[in-house]
Amino acid sequence: MSMSIIQLLPEHIANQIAAGEVIQRPASVVKELMENSIDAGAEFVQLHIKDAGKTLIQVVDDGDGMTPEDAVKCFQRHATSKLKSADDLFRLQTKGFRGEALASIASIAHVSMRTRKGDSETGTHIEVEGNTIKTNEQIVCSKGTIFEVKNLFYNVPARRNFLKSESIEFGHIRDEFERVALAHPDIKFSLHHNGQEIYQLQSGVLRMRVASIFGRNSNERLVPIEEETNIVSIKGFLGKPDAAKKTRGEQFFFVNNRFFKDSYFHHAIVKAFDGMISEKHYPSYCIYLDVDPAKIDVNIHPTKTEIKFEEDRFIYSILLSSVRQALGKHNIFPTLDFEAETTFDIPSSFRKTEPVEPQITVDPSFNPFQTQKSSGGSTGNGFSKALKNEGFGQAMPSPADWEQFYHIEEESTDQAVISNQTIGFQEEQNVGNYMVHDRYVFSPTKSGLLVIDVKRAKWRILYTELIGKFIHQALESQQMLFPIEKELTKTEMDLWLSHEKLLNQLGFQCECQQETLLIHGAPVVLPENSIDTCIDSLLADLQDRDIDQGDVAHHLVRRLTQNASKDAVVRRPEEAQALIETLFQCEDHALAPNGKKIMHTLLLTDIASNF
Ligand code: ADP
Ligand code: MG
Repeated sequence: MSMSIIQLLPEHIANQIAAGEVIQRPASVVKELMENSIDAGAEFVQLHIKDAGKTLIQVVDDGDGMTPEDAVKCFQRHATSKLKSADDLFRLQTKGFRGEALASIASIAHVSMRTRKGDSETGTHIEVEGNTIKTNEQIVCSKGTIFEVKNLFYNVPARRNFLKSESIEFGHIRDEFERVALAHPDIKFSLHHNGQEIYQLQSGVLRMRVASIFGRNSNERLVPIEEETNIVSIKGFLGKPDAAKKTRGEQFFFVNNRFFKDSYFHHAIVKAFDGMISEKHYPSYCIYLDVDPAKIDVNIHPTKTEIKFEEDRFIYSILLSSVRQALGKHNIFPTLDFEAETTFDIPSSFRKTEPVEPQITVDPSFNPFQTQKSSGGSTGNGFSKALKNEGFGQAMPSPADWEQFYHIEEESTDQAVISNQTIGFQEEQNVGNYMVHDRYVFSPTKSGLLVIDVKRAKWRILYTELIGKFIHQALESQQMLFPIEKELTKTEMDLWLSHEKLLNQLGFQCECQQETLLIHGAPVVLPENSIDTCIDSLLADLQDRDIDQGDVAHHLVRRLTQNASKDAVVRRPEEAQALIETLFQCEDHALAPNGKKIMHTLLLTDIASNF
């Protein structure tokens, strides 16, 4: 007779094992309890935390509450009111359905619960310790449910010791709170830590909720995004590029009101922002996807935030184009071809509706180079293709623009009169369509004066040109007649030597003699008097630990081209024209490689307001 070696685990041990998966830290308890409150139809959910959850996690809701029987049952494993048949699994609207969270929490903490249903006179008070019910009494309490979780991991010292500092653990709690709050703008929430109010969120429209989570003054830097297709509908908000932050954190994806993380979709957003924010910054976004629940695999594991999408590639491309469109529509680019920006690379069969004319929310007559004649699409005046197709998608300015421009001024005496004196040009020339000043090129438009920053324009042009080359071959090097000598510290020398290959590729040919760098060749694009500062800034970049190693090449080319363009000036209108044409052949012609804008339009109305 052989003995069975398989034994059923005692219930409380099974619960502890389950708890290990579900409850990793105080924030996991917060998530489970808040989600239960929402599933119970709460309109107001209050979260009170003490000592980052190590001492107390309290969730108060005004939801449906539980009957005395359910109040006991809910702590049993696989006790759930949310799943009646296997089919329900595929139609889930609720957050939880495994009936595991409360059993898990009760096995590793001291839990007290007070709950009452709306139609019942009395409520139930339950206290559980180590899965044993210690108290079960009828009490007077308000409708809804109050959970108190104390001494988390009291019986799992390994877990308890594993908890991080208070600020880190509270950070996780705050993250969970924000995710739940962002998914439910129609519900009121509050968060207190050690008695201090962290959040007090009124119910309202989505924009209001996003703005209150993104923080002070964030409302005006939110750009709405919206797209509707057969497969996915997208809504939400983006932070304007100039509000991008150096820290990660304001990046939220939700699908069917559930927070998830997705580096692939994140990439789509980053790509749409490409060139508009510097590489050290992260775009902020809060994006809500709605898809058919049958087309996603919400990993049944409750703590995981990854989700598999059947149509992920399609969603990626929709995200990319709708973010681009949203940024374009709201005139994030100083000047912009609205038609080009709204051309989607989405297969038309996916679209629910026929594409509609984009709603332009800015002055629709705003187009710096639009001439009277060109509105029909034919320019016929021999201007560059670059400008027609790449940049504004319109013809170049013509003398008619000037006439038009000055005509407006005559009509309205309130409008600014731009003259040499008022702007104070030193070397102003007015030939054709540009006025030039060392640092700026000015081009009059119907609505005002387009100003282009020459250095930044040049930087963008050089960067675009060289980054393309750099990937395939070493950049051209200019040989010195006599080597330039530069003293370096030991650390700098080591840095230089450990990146020598990249620096050669960049066009530097150097030799090290103890503390001295002998520069035999330098990149052709770099004026000789900039070599020294360029090397200093390259070394500073190489030392910067924030720079991702995989990205070093980009940083170096950026730095090189920045140094190469920092003395750029334009002295003649013909030069201005060439500069602008080349600029508009660059994909990211609106922003310099550091994310700063290249162009700005001084509106006539703004000019007038100065007089
Ligand atoms: P799940 O959420 O997966 O169903 P839980 O262990 O989180 O499992 O909760 C078990 C059950 O307890 C729920 O299905 C629900 O019926 C009940 N419950 C939990 N929290 C609340 C609450 N705040 N209000 C009302 N009922 C609740
Ligand atoms: Mg639950």
